[in-house]
Amino acid sequence: MSKRKNHGYKKSGKKPNPANKPPVGKRQAHGGGPAKGKGTDGKKPVIAEVTCSGLTNEGKGIIQWDGKKLEVEHLLPGETAEVAVSTKGRHTTAQLKRVIQPSSDRVEPPCVYFYECGGCQLQHMNNEAQVDFKQKTVDALMKPFGKPQAMLTMEHPYAYRNKSHTTFGLSRDRQVIGGLYASNSHEIIPMDHCLIHDPKADEIAGTIKGILRTTKLQPYNEDTGNGFLRHVLIKVGKTSGQIMVVLVAASSVFPGKNNFVKALRKAHPEITTLVHNVNNKDTSMVLGDEEKVLFGPGTITDTLGGMEFVISAKSFYQVNPVQTEKLYDKAMEMADLTGKETVIDAYCGVGTIGLIAAKTAGRVIGVELNNDAVRDAIRNAKRNSVKNARFYQGDAGKFMVEMAERGEKADVVMMDPPRKGSDEAFLSSVVKLQPERIVYVSCNPETQVRDFEYLEKNGYNVEEIQPVDMFPQTVHVECCALLVREQ
Ligand code: SAH
Repeated sequence: MSKRKNHGYKKSGKKPNPANKPPVGKRQAHGGGPAKGKGTDGKKPVIAEVTCSGLTNEGKGIIQWDGKKLEVEHLLPGETAEVAVSTKGRHTTAQLKRVIQPSSDRVEPPCVYFYECGGCQLQHMNNEAQVDFKQKTVDALMKPFGKPQAMLTMEHPYAYRNKSHTTFGLSRDRQVIGGLYASNSHEIIPMDHCLIHDPKADEIAGTIKGILRTTKLQPYNEDTGNGFLRHVLIKVGKTSGQIMVVLVAASSVFPGKNNFVKALRKAHPEITTLVHNVNNKDTSMVLGDEEKVLFGPGTITDTLGGMEFVISAKSFYQVNPVQTEKLYDKAMEMADLTGKETVIDAYCGVGTIGLIAAKTAGRVIGVELNNDAVRDAIRNAKRNSVKNARFYQGDAGKFMVEMAERGEKADVVMMDPPRKGSDEAFLSSVVKLQPERIVYVSCNPETQVRDFEYLEKNGYNVEEIQPVDMFPQTVHVECCALLVREQ
């Protein structure tokens, strides 16, 4: 649980840091933070003037203090600043109090919640500085494998997300609040909008908050287990205009359901489907297993690479469609298909990469763990009249081991694992299948580099690395890489 929990404004529902100035003693202004001396082995924190020498991979400023290397959130390279240094046992931390000499890369974050939220980490940097930071991070990580290409950037790096997620709760004075969790915490920061969300999604979340306030329906309380609504997940098909709203509730019984649905549809006739998802577990996972469609098809569609894809509530779908087009174009260029190849689309989600590849491949075999996503992928093949693609549900590693045991071969493996990367079962089987090319798409360059190491030791060379800025304002970066088998 974060120490931010002590900040009264989160429970009371006041807006944080409304002036949104650079963090000039912002935490003390709310009566929290280090000034109380707690966590400093009984002593007040030490105020120190420091200079920032660089950034960590998480975008935090690096400083030296008393022979120690410390990390300071929201501090930029070259800046001098006052920080409050606190010590608890052998653990020393530093918080930014005041920037004395700001960097020319510093901008006023457009989002009023930036300093409290943690969903974005880089809004205090201008766009060029953000891209430069991510490029340098990727360049340094990938150095043993070659120099990455220049990042594919986004022209309008806000309001890009097609998926938004709002958590509901009660403030101390028992008002319904909705927003995002503060970083590393389960404290809800009340928010009316998020600048990287689709604005329509936030409008709908706002309406739902209003409906809760005027009905007896209560938000769920994590501590007591009472209440109904936990989260609202909204998926927007940016090209189709279709909108799916998923009400994640602690119970399958929905008191006042008809009135709720009526009020929501009246305010937002643009919602094309509404889903009631039941999550009654003590978990940080948003979605539960059980799902009831309240109206509409329970899915939305969207278009990518000239094909139309059906997406369910629980299926993964890339969150930034503008940048996904660029990512997939690059992946297809790397796959260099001629119409004959057997292609494996591993970790295939709703089949996007595999189905786009199928147009220029001999056949495509997709594998994916999530049942709903596989069902979507099969539907998507039919919907787009793709006859040379088959999709299978299962663990990609196991699936590949079995393929290798049967002595099957593949010409191209396209893989797009989750953040933790792939595993040895998968990679060792890829090596046995002997594909000419591996196109490795990843949202986590650190695990991607780890997997490169394995593949390079086992007969593959990394030939090209293309970073794509899929998540502007955040530290996250996507990379697409081509590995070719040594002759
Ligand atoms: N290629 C897709 C999805 C990539 S996200 C796209 O571009 O949209 C990663 C996917 O891997 C998710 O759909 C997730 O459900 C799936 N996944 C996670 N672990 C897996 C495993 N062990 N085996 C197969 N798929 C897995």
